[in-house]
Amino acid sequence: MIGVTENLRKIRDLLDKAAVDAGRRPEDVHLLAVSKKQPLDKIIEAIAAGQRDFGENTVQEGTEKVTKLAKKELDWHFIGHLQSNKTRIVAEHFDWVHTIDKLKTAKRLSSQRPDSRGDLNVCIQVNIDDESAKSGASRADVINLAQEIATLPRLKLRGLMCLPAIRESFDEQRVPFALLHEYAQILQKQGLDIDTLSMGMTGDYRAAIFEGATIVRIGTAVFGARET
Ligand SMILES: *Cc1c(COP(=O)(O)O)cnc(C)c1O
Repeated sequence: MIGVTENLRKIRDLLDKAAVDAGRRPEDVHLLAVSKKQPLDKIIEAIAAGQRDFGENTVQEGTEKVTKLAKKELDWHFIGHLQSNKTRIVAEHFDWVHTIDKLKTAKRLSSQRPDSRGDLNVCIQVNIDDESAKSGASRADVINLAQEIATLPRLKLRGLMCLPAIRESFDEQRVPFALLHEYAQILQKQGLDIDTLSMGMTGDYRAAIFEGATIVRIGTAVFGARET
């Protein structure tokens, strides 16, 4: 035991409480355990505690873990920046990609996804604060990009993801999440069948849940500090 079981129990309670406080159903908020830079034994403890969804942000480390734990029934989410020359290995090993920001990357994933694996679930990462150093589609491009990705075979466009600039207060944290939610509603009004808002981490999950997050990506609160 490395404490992960207890951490998971606590964070699940906190997520449920945030959902209820927000007037939402706890089962509509899913916990993605971000296992990047965490050792395998912690992931194995999380699996024993019932966790099924794991997030990795580099192709090499993520693929190694997927391969080592291949016998388990898990869903692996790629949440890092994806270079277009590394799409094949992600298309072959992962169940989700949260960080699509270019049509080119989506097209490559679409053509490289093995038929045997079923559709790859994808979200468009939106550079919600318009930060010059951050990846993500610009807000001006989101709607067109979503319409084009939705037509690609072997991909299932599930929704939008963001990684906002750090804000201190709960009220400030809600602002970018509310904006991402608005973009998702525009896409739904246009007829796209999306159901996912991937937003919120250890420091801001409560604000994200108040603004409609359906997947929160939590690392530190589940596994403790990361190895460097
Ligand atoms: C690392 C990471 C997280 C988790 O961060 P914590 O603060 O440890 O919860 C979530 N999303 C992305 C995209 C990350 O890279």
